[in-house]
Amino acid sequence: MTEETAKQMTWHKNGKRYNPDKMVHPSDAEAWQYFNDRHPEKAAEARNVRVAFATDGFNPYGLMSSPYTCWPVFTIPLNLPPGIAFQRQNVFLSLIIPGHPGSNMGVFMEPVIDELIKAWGGVWTYDRATRSSFKMYVWYHYSLHDFLAYGLFCAWCVHGKFPCPVCKKAVRFIWLKKGGKYSSFDKHRQFLPSEHPFRQDIKNFTKGVAVTDPKPHIRSGAEVHAQIDALVPNEGGGFVGYGEEHMWTHKSGLTRLPYFDDLLLPHNIDVMHTEKNIAEALWATLMNTEKSKDNVKARVDLATLCDRKKQEMQPPSGRNKKWKKPKVDFVLKIDARREVLQWIKNLMFPDGYAANLSRGVNLGTLRVNGMKSHDYHIWIERLLPAMVRGYVPEHVWKVLAELSYFFRLLCAKEISRNIAMELEKVAPVLVCKLEKIFPPGFFLPMQHLIVHLPTEVRLGGPVQFRWCFPVERGLKTVRKKCTNKARIEASVAEAYLREEVANFTTLYYKPNLPSNQNPLPRYNADENESTLGLFQGQLGSTSGSTVMILTNKEWRSIMLYVLNNLTEVQPFIK
Ligand SMILES: [Zn+2]
Repeated sequence: MTEETAKQMTWHKNGKRYNPDKMVHPSDAEAWQYFNDRHPEKAAEARNVRVAFATDGFNPYGLMSSPYTCWPVFTIPLNLPPGIAFQRQNVFLSLIIPGHPGSNMGVFMEPVIDELIKAWGGVWTYDRATRSSFKMYVWYHYSLHDFLAYGLFCAWCVHGKFPCPVCKKAVRFIWLKKGGKYSSFDKHRQFLPSEHPFRQDIKNFTKGVAVTDPKPHIRSGAEVHAQIDALVPNEGGGFVGYGEEHMWTHKSGLTRLPYFDDLLLPHNIDVMHTEKNIAEALWATLMNTEKSKDNVKARVDLATLCDRKKQEMQPPSGRNKKWKKPKVDFVLKIDARREVLQWIKNLMFPDGYAANLSRGVNLGTLRVNGMKSHDYHIWIERLLPAMVRGYVPEHVWKVLAELSYFFRLLCAKEISRNIAMELEKVAPVLVCKLEKIFPPGFFLPMQHLIVHLPTEVRLGGPVQFRWCFPVERGLKTVRKKCTNKARIEASVAEAYLREEVANFTTLYYKPNLPSNQNPLPRYNADENESTLGLFQGQLGSTSGSTVMILTNKEWRSIMLYVLNNLTEVQPFIK
């Protein structure tokens, strides 16, 4: 570790905050402070390290037919300043799980847990900044995963009637007979204050039902720990009461950590995947694509649950020989869809802000092809309100705009504690408003997670330290390292070790030398430009150059081109 890195590792405690009201780092949030209060002697030393864990699976063969997935586990030190905490060189590969871990996740994680327990007891370390040795303590702070990996990591099955790993058994989802899935429809009125008018609404939610239930009790770390300890193993595997009393698939090794009860937020819901899935469902429904959640099955389930006569499927009558699906006001009409796509086709963004969405627009099929997580992120936060205004009724637009604004505030780089608390109150109302518009089939576990996101911001800090964008980038680099397809894990481990050595040694290079610490800028802003007109290219792109050996013929034609086009040579040609 260089002197510079050693200094940076104390940023969480000594770093300057320009606005004390705003949270810019996980250390500004409640969970961090709560842990400090519980363990003041360890928190007093700024050089002690808190780490986050992240894992996700990928298919190294790139074939959909091969079911094999490889699961790298990343360790991320959280002490570093906001700008560099999640940079590639600070995301460490600590474990590779060969194949889908399933309920054996706890077994695979054992070596890491052992090391964490050892690190909690202190390890002698040399500090380069003060040139002295000290006893360093390292502990687990939180984990970040997509929803399925969350379930594997915390050992709560995220399928079935209790899919929310935060509410656990407190919120039971409803089964949609026709849709064949569990839905979180009308499960959010209980999160509202007791006097809220939505609780008495018997028309717009489940027909004839008013909600008087109190707000669900979210279990604390100690309560969860006690519940896990009390699990009784079944003879044939699993635990007694699985599926009815609880959804614990195995005992997570994290409960072995002596400080597990003091972690206010042991796992994070990934905002990136949540936002992407919500945006994807919303896009498909508004644009009426084949993935629309407002399909025939949803309409049949709607008839049994809701009092929305105009939206129910209409039986054959008179000349109509087929069942008819009536049009609804929240789906854009075909002309509107064409206009919207034309608008997206002409959209321009600032450089580096978003991918070029217009490339994917297909006016023939009325689709946008190849939209990725970040495109949905931009779409729901920036484009959605402008895109649908005037094409959907005002009351629908207001709710969609509110949803867009909610995500924009939530994903801000700096977020104040007051805004986080305000969002906590807004979130259940917002989901209820969506329930008044969309059919029950629209509400999957993801839509339910909206109610938990602001609480996690209050506890864990800004989402940029808790979402999966850096993890997905890490995964992409790991995937590129699978060069030997017969020995996936070994080839990744070897290539990764080499990269880690390069990352640490290049820290000692001079700052003006190009290395992986100082990558080339995206644009040519070099001051020492060529004096020859043809080779001046300030603000041109610097990327994409490769080494190539020219043939004699190619070399000659390039020379001819250069000489013919160089203004400095023109007088000699004349
Ligand atoms: Zn929940």
